[in-house]
Amino acid sequence: MIGITSFGGYIPRLRLNRMSIFQSMGWFAPAIVMVAQGERSFCNWDEDSLTMAVEASRDCLKGMDKSIIDAHYLCSTTLPFADRSGAGVVKTALNLKDDIVAADFTTSLKCSTSALVTALDAVKGGNKHSILVTASDKREAQAAYFYEMWFGDGAASLLVGDRDVIAEFKGSYSVSHDFVDHYRGSWKEYDYMWEERWVRDEGYSKIIPEAVSGLFDRLSISMDEVDTFVFPCFFKAEHRKIAKKLGATPEKVVDNMHEVCGETGAAHPFVMLVSALEKAQPGDRILVAGFGQGCDALYFQVTDNIKNIRPRRGIKGSLENKKTIDNYPKFLKFRDLIKTEMGIRAEAPTQTAMTVLWRKRKMLTGLIGGRCTKCGTPQFPRMDICVNPECNALNTQEDYPFADEPAFIKSFTGDLLAVSIDPPAIYGMIQFENGGRFMADFTDCELGDVRVGQKVTLQFRRRFVDKERGFSGYFWKAIPIPGTAPEKPREERLRFDDKVAVVTGAGAGLGRVYALELAKRGAKVVVNDLGGARDGSGDGSTAPADQVVEEIKAIGGEAVASYDSVATPEGGQAVVDTAIKAFGKLDIVINNAGILRDKTLPKMAPANWDAVMDVHLKGTYNVTRPAFIKMRENRYGRIIFTTSAAGLYGNFGQTNYSAAKMGLVGFMNTLKLEGEKHNIKINTVAPVAATRLTEDILPPDLLQKLKPEFVAPLVLYLSSEQCNETGIILNAGMGYFNRAAIMTGPGAVVGDEIKIPDLDDIHKNWEAINTLENAEEFTNATAAFGPMLDAFNPKKKDSSGGAAQGQLTVKAIFDKLPDAFRADKAAGVELIFQFAISGPEGGSWHASIHDGVCEVSEGTHESPTSTIKMADVDFVKLITGELNAMTAFTSGKLMVEGDLMKSQLIQKLFRF
Ligand code: NAD
Repeated sequence: MIGITSFGGYIPRLRLNRMSIFQSMGWFAPAIVMVAQGERSFCNWDEDSLTMAVEASRDCLKGMDKSIIDAHYLCSTTLPFADRSGAGVVKTALNLKDDIVAADFTTSLKCSTSALVTALDAVKGGNKHSILVTASDKREAQAAYFYEMWFGDGAASLLVGDRDVIAEFKGSYSVSHDFVDHYRGSWKEYDYMWEERWVRDEGYSKIIPEAVSGLFDRLSISMDEVDTFVFPCFFKAEHRKIAKKLGATPEKVVDNMHEVCGETGAAHPFVMLVSALEKAQPGDRILVAGFGQGCDALYFQVTDNIKNIRPRRGIKGSLENKKTIDNYPKFLKFRDLIKTEMGIRAEAPTQTAMTVLWRKRKMLTGLIGGRCTKCGTPQFPRMDICVNPECNALNTQEDYPFADEPAFIKSFTGDLLAVSIDPPAIYGMIQFENGGRFMADFTDCELGDVRVGQKVTLQFRRRFVDKERGFSGYFWKAIPIPGTAPEKPREERLRFDDKVAVVTGAGAGLGRVYALELAKRGAKVVVNDLGGARDGSGDGSTAPADQVVEEIKAIGGEAVASYDSVATPEGGQAVVDTAIKAFGKLDIVINNAGILRDKTLPKMAPANWDAVMDVHLKGTYNVTRPAFIKMRENRYGRIIFTTSAAGLYGNFGQTNYSAAKMGLVGFMNTLKLEGEKHNIKINTVAPVAATRLTEDILPPDLLQKLKPEFVAPLVLYLSSEQCNETGIILNAGMGYFNRAAIMTGPGAVVGDEIKIPDLDDIHKNWEAINTLENAEEFTNATAAFGPMLDAFNPKKKDSSGGAAQGQLTVKAIFDKLPDAFRADKAAGVELIFQFAISGPEGGSWHASIHDGVCEVSEGTHESPTSTIKMADVDFVKLITGELNAMTAFTSGKLMVEGDLMKSQLIQKLFRF
């Protein structure tokens, strides 16, 4: 039996959203919108048909004995050399043996199916037993042309032979015609296309059926004996019509992959066939037809061996590994279709010495290093002396292929000065797990995602194009594998080194755990505790604070005790002074000290009310005020308030405690505004934990599950530098965390603004007044006042259905702009944004950003940094996220005058 014995595929990672071509060029070529669905694959700047062919072939041959291959046929219409064997390069990169036939099949889209027929015939003849046939194409089209939309880049590989056949070859039929639907003169960059209708009617529609019918006659079969029909044709309607004409029902026809990658030229019959083989079941009968100056039709039947093939990337895996971009100029630059200034460094000579390339071909093209036959140490490059210092044997090296060896990143850098088509140039040291290392260029990655320790795969890529001499140079590059960076040890992930924290009431319960966890992560901690009774009575004791300080020291942390009561301003000041004296600064305050004096209101004597207020509400003020003053000097601070479900939602018998705890929420709501420009964040936590305070309130079985340790991670996160949140309330207990917020309903206008509504009017409108449907959260009192003012503004009401319903208007956006401003992102930023908004809701506003503060005013500024011009409707859509900024810009809905680069800061500086 002869047939296909293995397959592999490769579609480059990059995809271009076709709509982005239209958005850039639709003004010029509006008709291209008809094929602007989905995305097309495209090569990274360092890929071409040779590099893709190497990858598809490696996928096909992975884990196999390469010495059985006795021919390699490479099929492509876009080989980088008109006279240098592409198959010869691929064969060397794959480290195939030297005594094989390596031949290029080219100059027609059907060169791949013709090579496949040739290979199968050769195996059938018995002269050869295993032939690797790889097809790869990277075709160019002029900008804004239909073909730019239709084309994609890709490669696929088939191994044919007479052992372990997965799809038995049953026969083929070929027709050859000098039918010139398109051609590319040998000195031309782009294809010349003849009129589409003629190509469809006289070409595809006649020649494919001619070959298929010839095959059916030869094998005495019909479409009934075909389960899967593979034939590329980028005219969608024609694809359907040809299948129908030949009697193939739609479920038999393999999708032409327009939406997911586009037509990959000579590779496409293989790409579609591999995608069919990936889904094939034993017994499936597959018909393949490849069109181009004639047509080859081949017929296969899938065998039981298909069940045993090892997993591979294939076409399915390639399609899953993708990065879609909207950046059409980047696509053009990567394909060298636009000229850009590359700088003087790009002029460095790139001539390749053919002598060196020949002598070092194994190393440069095949990534072959050496291994010491005495001690087994691999090394790259291969040298006369073994690099193992314990061995250093002379002339003991044997060839050792590195391309498939597991490797990881030892170090790396992003270099903005080096010449690169896709800066920054990323490169670094690659360490092979079994020994050997070298400095490699990285590709198919973004600097921000690269990590030391991350695993890499190696791929054969283009290093440079020497345009002067028409030469492309290749070597192997490292591709960091997403998701393989080693996790940092737990305690190293979020650290508080160099941070000084005060935790009040840290002698027991929740505070003790906060203090310990902070110290474990490097913070220097002031452990404050009065050491009093649960109701705050008694003289207090130094023991609880001392004990926690001892615990911290025992684990190697740094801490000092403070026994002051937070209930007085002097006590609060003393707590802060302790931090400054011991550690020189203060970064974090966790206001946690607390007592309980539960009574129903009639029994709530003023002393009980006051004691609870003094510790919780005033206590937080007493510590926070001096702390805030210190933090403001440092322009950094993280403050935590401790509220309670009793305050947020109510709890019988705790009026004093509830009032104090809810008072803290009001305190935070305002302090967050005052802290904003000083980079001081204030958040409030409502814990639930088993402590002295809850031991007789919560049921015993629940107390078991309520360890304070479950609350601490959230409180520590809110105390960390990484957390930029401010002014929020979070519930935390048992490892469950959720946000609580004050929400405001949309409300209703009762009356006409002049006549004072009477009680009946309120009664009649009660449902609308009372509803919380479409409720909103406001970040300050002015913003909350906005809907009330807008509700009486007829312009807003009429045009938008009414601000009273809480919808965003242009004016409301500018009212909210100062709240949306992120002072922490504005270090060193000094500029003025002018907004010119057209339409009924439009007007002029400008935002001045100066010294970490944003001021918004109506009207035009005399010298803005950037001016943003938009229609009112689009502006609201942009702010609410309905309209993407890039899309708005490329479609002309958003226009920028002045400094374009600085205008991009808007996204960073404001968050709605
Ligand atoms: P806890 O009694 O175990 O700890 C409170 C600590 O505060 C005690 O060690 C106490 O000595 C100290 N303290 C009291 N008054 C002080 C003062 N004037 N100055 C300095 N220290 C003082 O109680 P806990 O449950 O760990 O409570 C911590 C915080 O969490 C409190 O604010 C409490 O209201 C709040 N809270 C706790 C729960 C819960 O389920 N445990 C629920 C909601 C809110």
